[in-house]
Amino acid sequence: ATAPESPSLIPPPAGGFTPEAARADVPALHRTVNGHPLVWLDNAATTQKPRQVIEMLGTYYSAANSNIHRGAHTMAREATEAYEAGRAAVADFLGAPSPDSVVFVRGTTEAVNLVAQSWGRAHVGPGDDILVPVLEHHSDIVPWQQLAAERRARVVPVPLTPEGTIDQDTFADLLSYRTQLVAISHASNVLGTISPVREMTALAHRYGAKVLVDGAQAVAHLPVDVTELDADFYAFSGHKIFGPTGIGALYAKPEVLETMRPWQGGGNMIEDVTFARTAFAPVPHRFEAGTGHIGGVVGLLSALNWLSGFDREAVAAYETALTEYAHQALGTVPGLELIGPAAQKVGVLTFTLAGCTPEETAAWLDNDGIAVRAGHHCAQPALRHYNLESATRASLALYNTKEDLDQLTTSLLRLQDQQP
Ligand code: PLP
Repeated sequence: ATAPESPSLIPPPAGGFTPEAARADVPALHRTVNGHPLVWLDNAATTQKPRQVIEMLGTYYSAANSNIHRGAHTMAREATEAYEAGRAAVADFLGAPSPDSVVFVRGTTEAVNLVAQSWGRAHVGPGDDILVPVLEHHSDIVPWQQLAAERRARVVPVPLTPEGTIDQDTFADLLSYRTQLVAISHASNVLGTISPVREMTALAHRYGAKVLVDGAQAVAHLPVDVTELDADFYAFSGHKIFGPTGIGALYAKPEVLETMRPWQGGGNMIEDVTFARTAFAPVPHRFEAGTGHIGGVVGLLSALNWLSGFDREAVAAYETALTEYAHQALGTVPGLELIGPAAQKVGVLTFTLAGCTPEETAAWLDNDGIAVRAGHHCAQPALRHYNLESATRASLALYNTKEDLDQLTTSLLRLQDQQP
């Protein structure tokens, strides 16, 4: 096999939006599972990848693989350019003021841990509060608990209303000058609800608290502008936005990132090393110790490019209509109870079915080629708000269609027919 000279790792955007066009790009959506065409409704866990991403990974590894920032040769330069183009693409995608405000990490979980270990250790002390809504994913709870235990601070849960939204009155009451940080998901992975991040951030800032927004479930669905949100930190995972696993990004306000110390040491993150003293590299490189996931960044760049090629407002409007359709369709299944509010949400449909455990429901659907998730969805406090330990979750992306939801509904109706 031959490899092209200087392959382009920065593809042009596609343009337009129809779910069919998005679907046509994604090979995995065209396979069969258990003898049925796949219906992929597990997008909140991970999204399927368009061929543009898959091909770009192939191009990178077959013709442009090199370490970056060091090695004075053509392929090192090409890989470095692609890696930094990835950073610029993330900044652009998030509405960040500069590529230097973007740190590459393994995913949302690592981003939260980075903030806890670096910013948190420097700013959270005995008696301080970290406010965390009950809605959060475990990865936006546990790192704060670890930090709080180490620094003798408190993680204070912000309760939900009976309807399942963050109780804003209690949030306002809990905020104080002891609050150092508020950690909120932009969209919930268990209810799909979109949190009023801008308003909560403005309120938190009045007390001098910083705000971390977990964007894992938002970025694939909503246009995001971190400058408009005024978030101090914003985190997301590449694999939930049609990119590879093992790569994600943390945005931090430049003036905040500038004050933060590295959380891991090693190569790439230094300016100069002697045994007497080590000088760290400027931001954002001082947070990227060791060889990064260069191929992952190339894949993420391709994924952002693919998604940005669609009209994002049209994508959001389509997904909202599809989510409403899903609520109606699932509402026709006897004994099915949807959890959480029906409005102001991304396409996450979490439900219970009378007479079947979530695990039985998911296994039945899998038999029909329909992939959903069953379990606690890494959000046990949120599920326990509904007195549940487990539930079934169908989650949508721009390439899902009404037909997917009709198949889900039909399969669930057949399952209910089987009940004694
Ligand atoms: N936050 C939310 C809201 C999520 O849904 C997830 C993953 O499901 C995460 C954080 C963690 O993401 P990752 O496992 O990619 O680090």
